[in-house]
Amino acid sequence: MPRDITTEQIFDHYSNFYEKHFANRRFNHADILPLVNSLKSNKNFAVSLLGRSVEDREIFSIKWGEGKTKVLLWSQMHGDEPTATMAIFDLINFLNADDEFNDLRETLNKELSIYFIPMLNPDGAERVIRENAIGIDLNRDAQKLAAPESRILKSIVDELKPEYGFNLHDQDIRWSAGGGSNPATIALLSPQFDDECTLNEVRENAIKVIADIYTLLEKYIPGSIAKYGEEYEPRSFGDSITEWGTSVILIESGKRRNDPEKEFIRKLNFASLIEAFKSIAAGSKNESALKIYKEIPNNGKLLYDLILRNLNYNYAGSTYNIDVAVNIEEYFDSHKKNRYFRGKIESIGDLESAYGYDEIDCTGMNIYPGKIFINGSSQIGSNELRELLNNGYTHIEDINSKNHTYTKLPLNIIKNKAKFENEIRVNRYANFFAADSKVNYTIVNGFVYDCNSKTGVIKNGLVF
Ligand SMILES: [Zn+2]
Repeated sequence: MPRDITTEQIFDHYSNFYEKHFANRRFNHADILPLVNSLKSNKNFAVSLLGRSVEDREIFSIKWGEGKTKVLLWSQMHGDEPTATMAIFDLINFLNADDEFNDLRETLNKELSIYFIPMLNPDGAERVIRENAIGIDLNRDAQKLAAPESRILKSIVDELKPEYGFNLHDQDIRWSAGGGSNPATIALLSPQFDDECTLNEVRENAIKVIADIYTLLEKYIPGSIAKYGEEYEPRSFGDSITEWGTSVILIESGKRRNDPEKEFIRKLNFASLIEAFKSIAAGSKNESALKIYKEIPNNGKLLYDLILRNLNYNYAGSTYNIDVAVNIEEYFDSHKKNRYFRGKIESIGDLESAYGYDEIDCTGMNIYPGKIFINGSSQIGSNELRELLNNGYTHIEDINSKNHTYTKLPLNIIKNKAKFENEIRVNRYANFFAADSKVNYTIVNGFVYDCNSKTGVIKNGLVF
């Protein structure tokens, strides 16, 4: 094993391997096809058609390496979890390159046979949903094998009997690492094959690799690595494939602040997998692996996207001191390419023990429902829009608006004010402002506009 090449060095040269084909996370099967097809004529790789999805999309495996230890990786069995698919193509670029890391490639090639299955659920990816085209969660189908995509995964596991398996997902972006304010940017797990979480050699081998991945990741995201929930679920593939004798490593991509497209998390996936390949090729000897594994904090509790603290809320003649938590969910329009957001009030009251990705101390401020600007047209200039935000307006009435679901304006549009009521309540859209002698923050669809610094990006308003 060439000791002189570290994963950190490769990490630092990541831009050489970054697959530029993915401009963002919203790609589909048609986007990966040219990449897979280009590998068919590449002598370093062997591409096999494993089968087809419910809607007849091709599912491939891409093999690299001639070693005796077989490693199988599958990504995007949940269609709306694409981060690792991008990292797989970065990895393929790395394996295919010819540079100062050739010694490592030679070792990996000699020791390992690596099989990638990128995008196991192409129909789900097309719809940006978790399940397949007929609504089956493939990760609850390992026993019944009702879906063709599940049968494809089962067949290749049966055929290869790989020593190692990598189950690659995206997890809820609001999990915290250990329950504090740090998000769980990456969560790891050796899935269990019984309720007792029994350790056998198969799991111990997975844990050795996880310990090496964890040690690497601690350098880049200290305090933001978690252990995924340890609950036995025989219908899930991770648990079942472990039971069938493969050392499975679950890698879940979560969230990192200021990384909305998960580009850094994609890079962490890339580096984690290189570290894992090195570890496996070298025989995974980490003596303190179990200790390290046990010390990884659990996915703790859910963070909120935004918490505003210590607001005074006037209601029916009395004043109440409240915290307000807001979450913003991502949606896609009918073309599945355009993204928009809906921000709702998730909780009102004492949120002392909760954390937000963003938090604002509103001590001394009152909270009010956002105001509605009666205008008749949403065709107004940017200065006027800013003036409205500075004065606590969150909606504009436009009876002729052609927009349906959402608007690129930094305000919501109301088509008929008579039918509309803006209230500060749980599960309602987050449209309000916080003011003392003047308006300080205007929240539109969950996005914060800071009226004092005149900053804040309101990605879209909604149309009512
Ligand atoms: Zn998943």
